[in-house]
Amino acid sequence: MCAECGAPQIEGFNCWEQLGALIAWEYNDPALHAQHFLVVASYNLQHPAQFNEVVIAELRIAFNDYLDHGVSAATLRQRAAKHYAGATRVLRPEAERQPQLHHWAMTIADVYLPEQPEGAVERLFRWARVIQAYQVGAQA
Ligand SMILES: [Zn+2]
Repeated sequence: MCAECGAPQIEGFNCWEQLGALIAWEYNDPALHAQHFLVVASYNLQHPAQFNEVVIAELRIAFNDYLDHGVSAATLRQRAAKHYAGATRVLRPEAERQPQLHHWAMTIADVYLPEQPEGAVERLFRWARVIQAYQVGAQA
């Protein structure tokens, strides 16, 4: 089980490998490929320990802008590139990472279903909404 998102291993794949397998589907699924930002952002928001706090806060804003305001991934990339052009450190040093287990209603293991690429986009959006709902709750 993943120490951070709680996802079970699926057919020997840990949660990082499940992300890789989901991304591999993008090559055969243009609709999924179009949501690459959402795949990676959702995964990173469920695995914040490796990132600087500022980076995660910025990612949350971008994620909400994408889901709720239709801001394109290209625009968000440009925004991030400008923001991180300086010396901002994106990753925390390994010694400072403290993964905290959170139990989610959905993880990558509910989106990457082996041999079932059909419906992946729909599962992806349900996953993203679970993550978004938690953020809203956390901020209230
Ligand atoms: Zn995980």
